[in-house]
Amino acid sequence: MHGRRTGSTSCSRKLQRTKSDVYDQLISKPGRKFNPQIIGRSETFFDTKEGCLSLNGTRKTRRYHSIEVLYMNRNFRQKMRTLEGFTAQIVQHEIDHTKGILI
Ligand SMILES: [Zn+2]
Repeated sequence: MHGRRTGSTSCSRKLQRTKSDVYDQLISKPGRKFNPQIIGRSETFFDTKEGCLSLNGTRKTRRYHSIEVLYMNRNFRQKMRTLEGFTAQIVQHEIDHTKGILI
């Protein structure tokens, strides 16, 4: 029971850090991003399972730890961002959708 409580706390901290990472990398710099393209990937990747609102259950997929994304901002100026961690995973998932890929 005690170990379970410790695990829950650890999980909670990880979730808070993940939320913070997503906030720092995406939400704190709001604005529409058009035509995103992944132009660079880290050499390191991980295999995981993801769910999607368009599917039931989860599916195996491979994601890169960090990515470089080229996009146009709302003024049609070209921008580039490096994303890492959970934020990079989310963006890889969403960019796959723009190519018709469902995990
Ligand atoms: Zn999805």
